[in-house]
This record gives sequence, structure tokens and C-alpha cells, in this order.
Amino acid sequence: MWAQAPKKEPPVQWVETETGRWMVHDEARPAPPVVTPGACGAQDIQARPPADAVVLFDGKDLSNWADMKGQPSKWVVRDGYMESVKGAGYVRTRQEFGSAQVHVEFATPSVVSGAGQGRGNSGVFLQGSYEVQVLDSHENKTYPDGQCGALYGRAVPLVNASCKPGQWQTYDIVYRRPVFDQSGKVTRKAVFTVFHNGVLIHDHVALEGGTGWIGPHAVTEYAPHADKGPLMFQDHNNPVRFRNVWIRELKD
Ligand code: MG
Repeated sequence: MWAQAPKKEPPVQWVETETGRWMVHDEARPAPPVVTPGACGAQDIQARPPADAVVLFDGKDLSNWADMKGQPSKWVVRDGYMESVKGAGYVRTRQEFGSAQVHVEFATPSVVSGAGQGRGNSGVFLQGSYEVQVLDSHENKTYPDGQCGALYGRAVPLVNASCKPGQWQTYDIVYRRPVFDQSGKVTRKAVFTVFHNGVLIHDHVALEGGTGWIGPHAVTEYAPHADKGPLMFQDHNNPVRFRNVWIRELKD
């Protein structure tokens, strides 16, 4: 008799955590505690770029940005912010970066519509690859590894430090790029430290793989890429606003 060929197991679908073993995108996974941040909204946020920062968006125009084909983006600029336009696609910086400190301000729509992942969804992508989720997570239940501040599908934020819809919020991200060997295998994982509205939500977290949606099959794994890539914002069909975007490249 021949043994049956073993069923091909999909890659990592489960994560072991302090609160148990959870599926990726598990709605039943406990959400992190809510912490009301000290600063929300345009009046309370004062984050002028430091002298050595590369200012990527100062509220005036999208000259430093392009769509995914390298053409001028159809995102709208008004009143000092850029806003995603349904169907316009992602917007990316023309300049590319590796490890970096990144400051981004964002606001989800003040008029709430949709629920879960359909409410104020966008994202900040490092090296055009790794998503820090942007979502309206003010009293909006979704799977915790996809809520605002999540390293999408990979890491739940330590706390939910979201402001209310329509209010300006901040991300301050310290990103260490991954390193790949000649064969394309990751030899140093990407590492994220993230502050959301001044509150620590990721403390030196090593990213275990890609941040793609799990879809019907499997989570995305690391795929080799260049040492530098664009900063990129997501068009997820919701009009999300961004302003005051700057970056400081870090030596590896
Ligand atoms: Mg997103």
C-alpha cells in the first residue's frame, strides 16, 4: 500500500499570542484596550518637520508623488491636505527610501459610512510593501490585526489610540528595512516601532512576513525587493486625508 501524499498545508494561518492561538484576521481575537490620546485634531497637533527631514507633502501640491504608473496622481489637494479618490489608486512618493523615521498625519471621513474594514480604510506603506493600517477604529469593530495601527494581518497594536472620525491623527514610525540574501531569503526582518497620536502601539516589532490580505488562501510571505522603495498611501475606496508628511532616512 502506498501512503497518501500529505495534504499541502497552507503557510502560517495561525498566530500564538499571550491571549491564545488565533487565526489571521480573527474577529474573535480580543481587541486591544482603548486609550484616549492626549492630542487629537488640528489644534492639538504640532509636528513641524525637523531641519534634516525630507518634506514629502507640505499641503501645497503632489509634485513629490505619483500614481502607480508613475503618472500624476488623481488624488485631490485642498486646504492643506491630500485626499484619496475612489478608483484613483494608490499614491506613492517619487523618491525612494530604506530604513527611516516617518511622520504622517491623517483623518478618516467625518461623515461616517460603512463598517469594519469599509470605514475610513487607507494605509501607510513602507518601501511600497508593508502596511501600517489606516482605519476609522473609533467604536468600529473589526479583526484586531486589521484595525487602525495594525501591521496589517501581522501585528495588533498594543492599544487603540484612535481619535474620532474627521479629527487629525498622527503616526510616527521608526522603520528598519528587511535584508535579503542572494537567494531572496530574508536574513533580517523588517522592524517597526510606531506611535499613534503620541501613544506607543508597536515596540520594536519584527514583521513576520508580508502584510497582504489573507484572502482565500494564505498570508503573504516576504518577497525580496530593492533596498529602497516609496512611501505609499492606499486608495481603499474611502476618502481619507493626509497632510504634513515628512521622512528622515536612517543609516542601516
Ligand atoms: Mg488599508
